[in-house]
Amino acid sequence: MGKVYLIGAGPGDPELLTLKAARLLASANVVLHDSLVSREVLATISPGAEIVDVGKRCGKKLLTQDEINALLVSYAASHEVVVRLKGGDPSIFGRAGEELQALREAQVEFEVVPGVTAALGAAAAAGISLTDRRVASQVLLSTFSRGVNANAMDWGCLTPATTLVLYMPGPDYAEVSRRLAEAGLPVDLPCVIVSGASGSEQKVRWSSVGLLSIEEKLPAPALMIVGRVASQQIREIGDAFWRGERNEPAAQTFSVS
Ligand code: SAH
Repeated sequence: MGKVYLIGAGPGDPELLTLKAARLLASANVVLHDSLVSREVLATISPGAEIVDVGKRCGKKLLTQDEINALLVSYAASHEVVVRLKGGDPSIFGRAGEELQALREAQVEFEVVPGVTAALGAAAAAGISLTDRRVASQVLLSTFSRGVNANAMDWGCLTPATTLVLYMPGPDYAEVSRRLAEAGLPVDLPCVIVSGASGSEQKVRWSSVGLLSIEEKLPAPALMIVGRVASQQIREIGDAFWRGERNEPAAQTFSVS
């Protein structure tokens, strides 16, 4: 029996792989990957490894989730190092839960190797802090579905100090704009769209909840960071802050006994 490694490939740049991920990719016997994994990351896989693309193509699934689960279990019976490689981090919109359950049920040994999720790659690309203490106190990683569960999102916990990161916003920005407004977000709330974060085709577009509706689409994969941290002026405010023009609560003191 081999071992299955559920590995996060990060947002695209192979230098954002963890050392552990890079080591395992270089010694894997078989790698099952999603379409989101970049070519540059795939190029780091051991030349002797069998590479299986189990991703989605043009909206059409190559394999069902059950088939992927079954493949993982059967490869583990005949290969020592089986890598399940996912874009970003496996635990963020990555269906890791279903695959881990299948491995547990089949009593296959496994290990999760976390990766840099797209939200972090996108924040780095835009040069903003998701929890900039001057305007934000919490981050929500979210998405919404367009199918039967179209109204199932729960954004009731949003506050003016929340940074909302919207994965899989899809190509219809007008719909995203409308649904964010319906969720109670002000139309002038800043938003930044980041496409291909950390890759050679990376694009960053500054917008707002209202202006999103007329924004030109950026190529997939793209996500949106919505909230006061996504304001271009935040950088200028930041400069002023660090120059000493601060307006912050009195410093707290701690004593260690
Ligand atoms: N497990 C992945 C997310 C999978 S859902 C992670 O942790 O990042 C797929 C969505 O992630 C895409 O639709 C897009 O919204 C986002 N995404 C993935 N890679 C991205 C990238 N390099 N730049 C911007 N968004 C990305």
